[in-house]
Amino acid sequence: MQKTVDLRSDTVTQPTAAMRAAMFDAPLGDDVFGDDPSVNALQEKVAAMLGFEAALFMPTGTQSNLCGLMAHCQRGDEYLVGQSAHTYRYEGGGAAVLGSIQPQPLAQNASGQMALEDIANAIKPDDCHFAQTRLLCLENTWNGHPMPLEYLDGATRLAKDKGLAVHLDGARLFNAAAAAVQPGESVAASALRITSYFDSVSVCFSKGLGAPVGSALCGSKAFIARAHRVRKMAGGGMRQSGILAAAASFALDNHLERLAQDHAMAQRLAKGLGNIAGLQVRSAQTNIVFVDVADGKGPALLAYLKAHGVLATGLIGLRFVTHLDVDAQGIDHAAACVRAFFDEASAAQSAPTLRGAAVY
Ligand SMILES: *Cc1c(COP(=O)(O)O)cnc(C)c1O
Repeated sequence: MQKTVDLRSDTVTQPTAAMRAAMFDAPLGDDVFGDDPSVNALQEKVAAMLGFEAALFMPTGTQSNLCGLMAHCQRGDEYLVGQSAHTYRYEGGGAAVLGSIQPQPLAQNASGQMALEDIANAIKPDDCHFAQTRLLCLENTWNGHPMPLEYLDGATRLAKDKGLAVHLDGARLFNAAAAAVQPGESVAASALRITSYFDSVSVCFSKGLGAPVGSALCGSKAFIARAHRVRKMAGGGMRQSGILAAAASFALDNHLERLAQDHAMAQRLAKGLGNIAGLQVRSAQTNIVFVDVADGKGPALLAYLKAHGVLATGLIGLRFVTHLDVDAQGIDHAAACVRAFFDEASAAQSAPTLRGAAVY
C-alpha cells in the first residue's frame, strides 16, 4: 500500500535513525549556564560556515527572527520588509507587539523582490515625524524562489549606503544555496556567498535539513550578545538543548548536499503536473511547487488528494513541498492522483447520466 505522501511542508520530516543516534550520543550541559558542549559546537559550526563571528541556537525561526529584529532595532524604530514576508505576515506581529518596532511593508514582485526604488523611497528622513528606519529585512528563499545574487547585492548595498542594517530570514537559506551552486562548489560555500551580503542571518534546521527542532541566528559578537538577552526574555533560554543541537549539527554535516534531490523531486512533480487542463504550475525552482487551480476547484482537489493519501496545503493555489521523507514513487503517486481528479471531473461533466451529480 502507498504510504501517505505528506507534501504540506518540509517541516514534517522525521529524524533519521542516524540523526537520532547522534542525538542519543550528544554530550549535554545546561545551556543557560553556557555549558552545553553540543550547543556550543553547533553555534561555532554554523557561525563559521556562514561567515559570522557568533551564532545563537533558537527553538524556532520565529524566535530567531524576533531576536534578530530586536537586536537591530529599538522601540520606535522601523524595518523595511516585504508585504508577504514571513517576518511581517506570519510571525504574529511579534516585532511590533514585543519589540515596539514598526514594520514598513513594501510590495513584492512575483519572485518576492521589492523594487530598489521602493526601498529607497521608504527610508525616512531624520525628522521627528517619522519612525527611524534602521533595518532592511530580506527572505531567501521566498515561497521557494531563490533571490538572484545581483538583487541581494543591489538591495543590501542600497540599504548599507543609507546606514541601514540588513537581516536575512534564511529559513530555507540552504535551499537557495543548493539552487545556486556553481560547478564543483559545496552547498555550504554557496550559502556563504549569499550570507556575505548580510549583517545577520536566521536559518532553520527543522525544514529541509530534517532536524526535529531548531534555528540559529548569526551575526557579530555584539549583535549576538544583544540577541541573547532578547532570547532569554522571550523564554528561549533552554537547558540540555544539546540533544536538539546535535540533530542540527548532524543535518549540517549530512543533509546539505542532498537538498538537490528535493529540488529534483519538485521538478519531477512539476513535470508530472504538466498539460492538465484546469491546472497551471506556477513555479518549482527549489523544493516548493505552486499550482493554480481553475474554477475554484482547489479545496475539492485538496480533499480528493487527502482521500488518496496525498497531503498538500492551499486554496486557490495549492502548495506541494518536497523533503527527505518523499521519494520518486510518492511524487509519481501524487501527480497521478492530481491527474485522476481532473480526469474524473471532466468525465463527470461530459457523461449525461452524471449531469447534476457532485463533481469534485
Ligand atoms: C518556517 C519559516 C520561518 C520560521 O518558522 P518557525 O515555524 O517559527 O520555525 C521563518 N521564515 C520563513 C520564511 C519560514 O519559511
